[in-house]
Amino acid sequence: MAEPFWHNLVPDEYYRSIYDIDLDALHERGVSGLIIDLDNTVAAWGVGRPEPRLAEWIREVRDKGLEPYILSNDLGPRVALFTRYLGIEGTARAGKPRRRAFRKAVEALGLRPDQVAVIGDQVFTDIFGAKRLGCHTILVVPVSRRELLWTRFVRLVEGRLLAWLRKRGLVGPPVGRDPGLEGE
Ligand SMILES: [Mg+2]
Repeated sequence: MAEPFWHNLVPDEYYRSIYDIDLDALHERGVSGLIIDLDNTVAAWGVGRPEPRLAEWIREVRDKGLEPYILSNDLGPRVALFTRYLGIEGTARAGKPRRRAFRKAVEALGLRPDQVAVIGDQVFTDIFGAKRLGCHTILVVPVSRRELLWTRFVRLVEGRLLAWLRKRGLVGPPVGRDPGLEGE
């Protein structure tokens, strides 16, 4: 049976923040790599400095046997600030949601798409692109409400979509209690 058109827009998991993600469960399902979005997933948009808590989380990710990789559409210098601070690999100006962007990151990790979980805050960029490639997908609530005007418009559409998916029982409310970085 053909998948419905919205199939690639349904995240496999939905969390309040990256800190709520069940890393053990990911490891158990055979995931060994994490492709992680930057803006509004691990840091507020426009905030240049990664917080120490993020570095701790990255250490935990590695302790669980998962290799992290930053995949961002943002510019090189900002992405480099994070990859250097965290000591991990990454790609800037990635061109998400194109499949090629995710494929290159999966290859850089030396894994197959089904061994990788993609974490991001945008359905049409992070989830859509990653699902088309066959990765496990994790949506998180955006860290901050500060966003570009265009992104704010996309959020309106995304909000409608999530409400629609929720009504059909395809997406639950975000799991977790972490309040994120809002207001910090
Ligand atoms: Mg983002």
